[in-house]
Amino acid sequence: MPDLFVDGEWCAGAAGGRREIRCPADGTLVGEVDEASADDTRAAIAAAHRAFHAGPWPGTPARERGDLLLRVADLLVRDKDALARMESLDTGKRLVESEYDIDDIVGVFRHYGRIAAEDAGRVVDTGNADVVSRIVHEPVGVCGLIAPWNYPLLQVAWKVAPCLAAGNTFVLKPSELTPHTAIHLMRLLTEAGLPAGVGNLVLGAGPDAGAPLAEDPRVDLVSFTGGLATGRRLMAAAAGTVKKVALELGGKNPNIVFADADLEVALDFALTAVFLHSGQVCSAGARLLVEESVHDTFVDALVDRAGRIRLGGPFDEKAETGPLTSAAHRDKVEAYVAAGLAEGAVLRCGGRRPDAPELADGFYYLPTVLDGCRSDMSVTQDESFGPVLTVETFTDEDEAVRIANDSIYGLAGAVWTQDAGKGQRVAGRLRMGTVWINDYHPYVPQAEWGGFKQSGTGRELGLAGLEEYRETKHVWHNIRPAEQRWFAG
Ligand code: NAD
Repeated sequence: MPDLFVDGEWCAGAAGGRREIRCPADGTLVGEVDEASADDTRAAIAAAHRAFHAGPWPGTPARERGDLLLRVADLLVRDKDALARMESLDTGKRLVESEYDIDDIVGVFRHYGRIAAEDAGRVVDTGNADVVSRIVHEPVGVCGLIAPWNYPLLQVAWKVAPCLAAGNTFVLKPSELTPHTAIHLMRLLTEAGLPAGVGNLVLGAGPDAGAPLAEDPRVDLVSFTGGLATGRRLMAAAAGTVKKVALELGGKNPNIVFADADLEVALDFALTAVFLHSGQVCSAGARLLVEESVHDTFVDALVDRAGRIRLGGPFDEKAETGPLTSAAHRDKVEAYVAAGLAEGAVLRCGGRRPDAPELADGFYYLPTVLDGCRSDMSVTQDESFGPVLTVETFTDEDEAVRIANDSIYGLAGAVWTQDAGKGQRVAGRLRMGTVWINDYHPYVPQAEWGGFKQSGTGRELGLAGLEEYRETKHVWHNIRPAEQRWFAG
């Protein structure tokens, strides 16, 4: 069966492009999928445009759109095992992590299924009894949804569910490296009853299959999650047709440990913050700021633990983290570490590929700790998106906040302290979209996600996620115009 989905039909790309998908853990062939050219993407845009302007979907009652999302959630539960396996094979991540991801995805579809019909707008008091003034929500139109490879289906779910809840049509382009769960999602949307043309799927490389989504005048909104450089390019391309642009970009997220924290717990979480999924997490706590008085004991213990983290493939039950996503990405992480060492960072552990022969066919990189870092180094400013922790020190609250905010990014951060007032004070001063106090990484679909500064322009999840996909219209109805003529004489 072909892998592109356009106007309710599965099809291959007109130019016949195909791509092999290999598991990053050992290089085995997972599958081969069809790829779209720019023309195929334009055909998908045409289908989404027709479905929006002629089809029933935007006018379908919000309650029914919500019910469809709830049916999709049930189908995701039914297919959880198969989806988790697909996600692990495409990404190389541990099966247990993929299983968590699918649970999260079900939660996202349920959340938007439940709130789809919650807010139908409002009536405004104009002070004139002869006028009815209403504020209503309407879908934006055709949405181009572009997703990355680190949490493939989760990032897709954060876009597709609110997009459909609000009554839009879409063309989805997942990462070319991890297409399989998006293909399966399109099957589930069809099974749940999504009309033809409302949801379309194109696969392939960004500059070919993705670029028309930012350029084509028939697309009203482009929602993108990915790297900063691509986000800048898309924003510039979308300016030509003044599209709405929602960007969820990278982060360089500080994890601030004060001397009065429960240091044993902070240590466990500092490891998870940066080494989960080998650091390929936009909110990874890759920048440790530790109070100078506890630096030596804390960092010695952390290096000891980091050096013992067990690497392995998706189905190795003893593995604690997995490979990087591709050889090219590992090259980038290696170059990033080399630049840090050249700038004077001190390598405390890792900094190379593992020796174990059973890992030789995967794109593994050892958990790495770079000590002695400063704000003016590239390693503390640039996102590595790999298993690399930089360590800086501070002496008081003001200095911790100043160093943490010294970044072009503002996605997330954490504060560790047993002084609740200090935790709240510091959280209030951090210029980041999410701040955890004595925790790292958790989120719920009811809360919001998004970055300050160059981490993005958008909000996902919560009610704000739905708002991204809605226009707001004011309808003014004069019910007695004859009474209000100015030049009636
Ligand atoms: P990327 O920018 O290389 O690619 C992301 C997507 O954009 C892919 O589907 C790619 O094919 C597509 N793309 C690339 N060039 C394009 C173009 N010219 N036109 C249209 N589409 C194009 O990012 P990545 O390597 O897949 O993902 C890693 C990045 O994503 C990291 O920087 C990470 O921080 C970020 N990320 C952010 C969040 C968040 O919520 N803020 C979440 C996950 C990942």
